[in-house]
Amino acid sequence: MDNKIIDGKAISEQIKKEIAAEVAGMIDKGIAAPHLAAVIVGDDGASKTYVASKEKACHSVGMTSSVYRLPESTSEKEMLDLVAFLNNDPEIDGYIIQLPLPKHIDEDKIIDAIDPKKDVDGFTSVNAGRMQLGLPCFVPATPNGIMELVKRSGIETVGKNVVVLGRSNIVGTPMAILMSRKGIDATVTLCHSRTKSLPDITRQADILVAAIGKQGFVTADMVKPGAVVIDVGIHRIDDPTSPKGYKIMGDVDYDEVAKIASKITPVPGGVGPMTIVSLLQNTLKAAKGEVYPK
Ligand code: NAP
Repeated sequence: MDNKIIDGKAISEQIKKEIAAEVAGMIDKGIAAPHLAAVIVGDDGASKTYVASKEKACHSVGMTSSVYRLPESTSEKEMLDLVAFLNNDPEIDGYIIQLPLPKHIDEDKIIDAIDPKKDVDGFTSVNAGRMQLGLPCFVPATPNGIMELVKRSGIETVGKNVVVLGRSNIVGTPMAILMSRKGIDATVTLCHSRTKSLPDITRQADILVAAIGKQGFVTADMVKPGAVVIDVGIHRIDDPTSPKGYKIMGDVDYDEVAKIASKITPVPGGVGPMTIVSLLQNTLKAAKGEVYPK
């Protein structure tokens, strides 16, 4: 593969091998395989795809997975009861609640009812707060996966200008926090929909992280030649020429930006596989009591 391309698929496969070896070691010692549970409410196609790929990834490393599928009509009280059950089930090391939830359920209330020790998505206020303070915590999977990609691709961060596009709680904001950490030592600018003169800012970036949810938004004129470009976006675009009838594209105009970037993540095969592998890493940590000692 072109050495400009940051191959998230290959890197994630390597990490999966490392996780599988650890899981096999645990089983050899008579310790139960780490167990990740997922809760999915309703019939959202994308959510079903994500949960299915998480299940598959779990099995590929020897972990146990279980999925709780609930109807769209599930009440908030029923969700809270399930969360309480999962918090107390000693066989489950970690679990995720696939978002979005139906509108009649208060997402924040449900997420914050998750026991932080089992919150392998890192979405509870306890884990988010601990991350900001630099304390042991579960870091959300996508930013964690990006940091791993950066490290394993040998991308220098110390003193570099990092521009993050998007300030969501699950991607942009944690990304900005992690990049500005001691040891990573980047200088970070966090941009959002009210940012003025965006291209002037993005052109300052040595590392540009695009997580805005707009397909092909980052064009070549917004990128400094030689920059590293990390594309978080996932967009399913109709494509009658592909066997599946669609193709997956990112927030970056890949063909044009790849011509001037020094390194770039493809979509698919960049950040996506790293997100799933990060969830497995967090589940392993939960099982081992590495973040919150058991
Ligand atoms: P989100 O919650 O919709 O947040 C989007 C952010 O982009 C917001 O902060 C918004 O600003 C900002 N934004 C929107 N339009 C903008 C513009 N014109 N200029 C500058 N900033 C703008 O999205 P998200 O959940 O972070 O996800 C972002 C993308 O990543 C989506 O395509 C999603 O599907 C994808 N994603 C991929 C993975 C993966 O594993 N690869 C994981 C999670 C998400 P305001 O705050 O001002 O509204």
